[in-house]
Amino acid sequence: MNSITFANNPIDRASQFRSNKEWQQQARISEKSLFMIFFEDKPLIKVSQDHSTKPEILWVSHQQLIASLTNNITPLFLGLKDERPHFALDLSELNLDQVLSNPSFANAKFIDARSIAQNIDSPSTGIIAQAKSNFAWNKNNIYCSKCEGVKLETKDTGYKKCCNQCGAEYFPRVDPVVIMLPIFQDKCLLGRQKGFPPGMFSALAGFVEPGETIEEAVMREVNEEVGLKSRNVVYKFTQPWPFPSSLMIGCTALVDDPEFTVDEEEIVEAIWLNKEDLTKILVGKSEKRIWIPPPMAIAHQLIVDWMKDN
Ligand SMILES: [Zn+2]
Repeated sequence: MNSITFANNPIDRASQFRSNKEWQQQARISEKSLFMIFFEDKPLIKVSQDHSTKPEILWVSHQQLIASLTNNITPLFLGLKDERPHFALDLSELNLDQVLSNPSFANAKFIDARSIAQNIDSPSTGIIAQAKSNFAWNKNNIYCSKCEGVKLETKDTGYKKCCNQCGAEYFPRVDPVVIMLPIFQDKCLLGRQKGFPPGMFSALAGFVEPGETIEEAVMREVNEEVGLKSRNVVYKFTQPWPFPSSLMIGCTALVDDPEFTVDEEEIVEAIWLNKEDLTKILVGKSEKRIWIPPPMAIAHQLIVDWMKDN
């Protein structure tokens, strides 16, 4: 297990059962099954009033859910864990008071994924990412894009949609984003985007374009944002980023000439930092008052990983 937030999902997706309607129906009412709840993009989290225990996903049984179930809401099949079917249920269609009136939800709160991800165990963030991205896709893909006004039919508990008029099939999309550290000798380059809070610098990043390799996307983005030529792109690790469904692909790239020019459009400032500078930044003792994103961001993990690298 690595320390990447929204990774390390412990559930076996068991996708062979998604389209098996009979199996799904049995599983939904089985005593063994567990359900997590979402409302408007936020997972339901069990919290202790006195903060004596760590927050965790609230898992409930079918029996505990009956009060909240309606016929037209299909739970998303997350998969199997410890031989128990796990589901996620989006109750956004209901009224919030009605949802919270379920006595099984008494010590729980809907908390946005970004803030809870920093306080919950890593495998749970992976489960939240799986459900959250999927619900977002379902919510934003109601009609067929070829047949005006024709509603799509949800299949496989929410992993597929079909148009019964033209036969088109739709699948949840993942948007690849490259995020990278340009390296020159013993320094790496961080940049400041326009909208960043004062003093925050991060890795450079951008969407992979159609017909482009990861390596090409890294070299293009480095060139566009800071005018540097790079080579030797090395893949490090990825992070699912469920806002709503990106996949962050962490890389490094070597630079031979460190003279950069920021593009002013996306990046307003950039800086070369060595490991000593970064050590001070990490403990909050940077003379330049620079800080970097928190550990939940892959940019932080890329920087720390590079610092350990000899
Ligand atoms: Zn259609």
